[in-house]
Amino acid sequence: MRIVDIIEKKRDGGELSKKEIEFFINGFCDGSIYDYQAAALIMAIFIRDLDSRETADLTHAMLNSGDKVELSDIPGVKVDKHSTGGVGDKTTLVLAPIVAACGIPIAKMSGRGLGHTGGTIDKLEAIKGFRTSLSRDEFIRNVNEIGIAISGQTGNLAPADKKLYALRDVTATVNSIPLIASSIMSKKLASGAEKIVLDVKTGSGAFMKTLDESIQLAKEMVSIGDKMGRETVAVITDMNSPLGNCIGNGLEVQEAIEVLKGNGSEDLKAVCFELAARMLELGGKGTIDQCREQVKASVSNGSALKKLGQFALRQGALYVPWDERALNTAPVRHLVMAPFEGYISSMKSELVGKASMVLGAGRERKDSPIDYTAGIVLLKKTGEYVQKGEPIAQLHTSSQHLVDEAKEMLMEAYELSDDAVGTRPLILAYIDSKEIINY
Ligand code: URA
Repeated sequence: MRIVDIIEKKRDGGELSKKEIEFFINGFCDGSIYDYQAAALIMAIFIRDLDSRETADLTHAMLNSGDKVELSDIPGVKVDKHSTGGVGDKTTLVLAPIVAACGIPIAKMSGRGLGHTGGTIDKLEAIKGFRTSLSRDEFIRNVNEIGIAISGQTGNLAPADKKLYALRDVTATVNSIPLIASSIMSKKLASGAEKIVLDVKTGSGAFMKTLDESIQLAKEMVSIGDKMGRETVAVITDMNSPLGNCIGNGLEVQEAIEVLKGNGSEDLKAVCFELAARMLELGGKGTIDQCREQVKASVSNGSALKKLGQFALRQGALYVPWDERALNTAPVRHLVMAPFEGYISSMKSELVGKASMVLGAGRERKDSPIDYTAGIVLLKKTGEYVQKGEPIAQLHTSSQHLVDEAKEMLMEAYELSDDAVGTRPLILAYIDSKEIINY
């Protein structure tokens, strides 16, 4: 087999066999297929697409390129959740303790933020003392003893995806449904989940900008999960505005705590509660309505918050996360006043994420340091009316000189209208192997 023939076949719209896909992934990983050949094939795939069978074969080949986490030492159904990436997305911090408090074990591997999107591991590390690097034994023991453990991804899960993603990032080939679906599902399947709830974001701040595209992506991932014998469902959620009011690691921990205390912003609560309920449903905890009730009860009776405290202390936190000593806070706080007047019709979430990064909350490169206290608190969001001179956001940072650039970027994120704008529902659709429900 020769890679040039495989590239040519896909370039001309042909269907790749399982063997050809395996040949490509194996050769790319062992270095016998060069980056420029892989880039050519990926571009051909981007333009010509893969069908469902080819996408499943690509997922399978990437899944088999590295280690697979074995969770059979943990009794019970292991249900995982994955979001396709967003700004202000702290859903894991909220739903993991809820689901664990309701009796479904959480054995989760999470990632760090890169670019304008955040990652759960960075958010947890904002809590003083919190350790995200656990040995396998400690990870399993924590889940078996307290029902929850979250650790950083080990180096060798789906390494083919890691290499391919880096190449896609610099060759304008990220936004392809089969490539995103196989990338996400190869990692999820390698991390040992038996059942998976996907949170597929749609809108300006997401990979998929339209509902139709998002449903296509969700259907592809649900079908891959099913083909691999891991029940998968997807919820499509809105990303035309950052989720919740806070963006930035420590700020997002504080906001997650508010939700677990029964407060917090309505959009964040709605998305977290629905995803948690879907996880319970997959875990066999009853009908979706019964699961929604259990989720609400775990918050109102305090068991979810208690679980967060237990989890944090077990992974090394010096204080429970709601203790005022648990998180550092930013020395510089700057209120941003509206230079405009009108209804906020939408927000470019990506720019909000980038402004937060400028303040120090994100990384330029994988090894850049992070300022856990930096970020943005949005005081006005999509749908709200803003008067000129009214505070619309608060910037948090350690360096005053970062404020102007961040402010300028944030200003570009607002889209305005003279007329009142209706906001669309946050939960837009539900997809499993049998049905698609549009809300
Ligand atoms: N997240 C991933 O893990 N992979 C993609 O391709 C896109 C988002």
